[in-house]
Amino acid sequence: MLQAIATVPRHLFFAPAFEAHAYQDKAFPIGEGQTISQPYTVAYQTQLLNLKPTDRVLEVGTGSGYQCAVLLQLTPHVDSIEFNEVLFTRTRQLLASLGAGGAGLYCGDGSVGLPDRAPFDAILVTAGAPGLPPALLRQLRVGGRLVIPVGGSQTQRMVRVTREGAEAFVREEFEDFRFVPLLGVGGWRS
Ligand code: SAH
Repeated sequence: MLQAIATVPRHLFFAPAFEAHAYQDKAFPIGEGQTISQPYTVAYQTQLLNLKPTDRVLEVGTGSGYQCAVLLQLTPHVDSIEFNEVLFTRTRQLLASLGAGGAGLYCGDGSVGLPDRAPFDAILVTAGAPGLPPALLRQLRVGGRLVIPVGGSQTQRMVRVTREGAEAFVREEFEDFRFVPLLGVGGWRS
């Protein structure tokens, strides 16, 4: 997992004027009011997913594409969905130019998942949710993991939900983080 972080050059996901900020352990604005997650956070969420190279992953919140590129180091089966059209278009071009075009990239409300591509072995939400979006739980395969920050607008607790059976879900809670809000019908809506 650390190897995956070490392999992906984070500065490529910054506008040239801001590249100097790429190797600080901080979140950074990427435009459209959104941020590229802190490297610590990317490592933390990625680790909780426990990915195997055969796993099918859905990332909700493509943003800069950095986390997506890290996931692609661990499995070739990555879908990622971004709500914001400007970021979606920009990041699709960037990932293609980096030769990281292997991910399935979608534009839309990922708080309802990607029903046509489900089930997933792992779902990673990179924006803060008010609760567990039911559609994401339904789209987990048995044995699958949902990693999602859940809480209010100021801080969110990292939560991992593992689907152990058709109706059996085990919830674990980890540290507190601060994410931009998850929008859409399974998020903060507006
Ligand atoms: N994983 C990103 C972090 C992006 S910040 C990276 O590595 O850079 C969170 C992203 O989630 C933002 O780009 C925001 O536009 C997006 N987002 C918020 N609500 C969403 C939703 N319902 N569906 C998909 N993307 C959403």
